[in-house]
Amino acid sequence: MPTDPSFASFHSNFFSYNTMTVDKTNNYGFGTHAIHAGAPIDPTTGAVIEPISLSTTFAQSEPSKPLGIYEYSRSANPNRDNFELAVATLEKARYALALSSGSATTALIVQSLKIGSHIVSGGDVYGGTHRYFTQVGNTHGVETTFVKDLAQDLEGALRPETALVWLETPSNPTLSVTDISRVAEIIKQWNEKNGSSVILAVDNTFLSPYILNPLSHGADVVVHSITKYINGHSDVVGGVLATNSDELHDRFRFLQNAIGSVPAPFDSWLAHRGLKTLHLRVRQASTSAQKIAEYLSQHEAVLAVNYPGLKSHANHAVVVKQHRDGLGGGMISFRIKGGAAAASAFTSTTKLFTLAESLGGIESLIEVPAVMTHGGIPKAERESNGVYDDLIRVSVGIEETEDLLEDIKEALEKVAN
Ligand SMILES: *Cc1c(COP(=O)(O)O)cnc(C)c1O
Repeated sequence: MPTDPSFASFHSNFFSYNTMTVDKTNNYGFGTHAIHAGAPIDPTTGAVIEPISLSTTFAQSEPSKPLGIYEYSRSANPNRDNFELAVATLEKARYALALSSGSATTALIVQSLKIGSHIVSGGDVYGGTHRYFTQVGNTHGVETTFVKDLAQDLEGALRPETALVWLETPSNPTLSVTDISRVAEIIKQWNEKNGSSVILAVDNTFLSPYILNPLSHGADVVVHSITKYINGHSDVVGGVLATNSDELHDRFRFLQNAIGSVPAPFDSWLAHRGLKTLHLRVRQASTSAQKIAEYLSQHEAVLAVNYPGLKSHANHAVVVKQHRDGLGGGMISFRIKGGAAAASAFTSTTKLFTLAESLGGIESLIEVPAVMTHGGIPKAERESNGVYDDLIRVSVGIEETEDLLEDIKEALEKVAN
């Protein structure tokens, strides 16, 4: 170790910087953890908000003896570490790993599987996930079977070489809800009977850790596109996964360092800043979405409404069991009378709901999946999953509820006339 005292004091500051964290095991509520987890006071300046650490490399006192815990920023970076600690705390996980996008997160999990492995996936998963499974995973010797409803169809789809079950709840864009503990139980029985080690990954992007913690319901890995609710301000593309398994975490961290799919320090910092208001944003979006869904349900120009918070939702009992306070989240989809033309006219008429892809931001967005996010899926397959030409998907933002309702009302009136 160096004898220069400034080295030693830097060293100890460095460590306190990284260890002054909220105790994850204490009883604070979600919002308190969201603000404080992974958010130490900077010991050298007293800054309440962590500095952005742009350095790609970190000094060493002797060869292979770094001064602190960092060596090179692909392997680990202070901003990424703090963000990961915050996500792990909110997902009630031991570990989290942040990546350069949600898609890179999916890719990392698939790349961790052996050649010849088999995946069983829910049917209406995110388009990019479907694309990765069918056009990339297969070229690396990993085959995927899609089933309509994992809780019902999983047992018949499992094979000796199955390594991963992929579940998205609520599904996109029809918002059907799957009972995670039911799926986890089927996998557990299969693993015990066959000596297998099939793992369950849940994409929790649509609800965020505020509404659902999949690991608490038996999932092995939880996955997010940070781009959506976690960052929440439509200005970062990123992904994160979380797990309680030492073995999975080691495997994923090793692979990420080898592949290099890491987020920039600034993006990690921004996503962490966004995460601090997750509970406020998701609660507000969910409250407005509930009112909008109820309004749409009774409107004569609307054929059907998909929203987990409605008592009429097919899996409402699972919603009540699985979601915090039975919250339905910020996403709604509905079918409008008048076909594709009406869907196009409506989504071009709203003033506060911007016609755009993506979701989970502070601003409200609206889109027509059949010709936008889900345009790449053949019509017959799309319609068998409920994605008709007249289906409209809404991401409810955090503007005032009354203003959003008024915007929907006015647009429906204009299109109906
Ligand atoms: C957006 C999204 C992804 C992909 O995330 P990117 O950050 O865009 O790569 C994965 N799953 C779901 C449910 C998504 O909405």
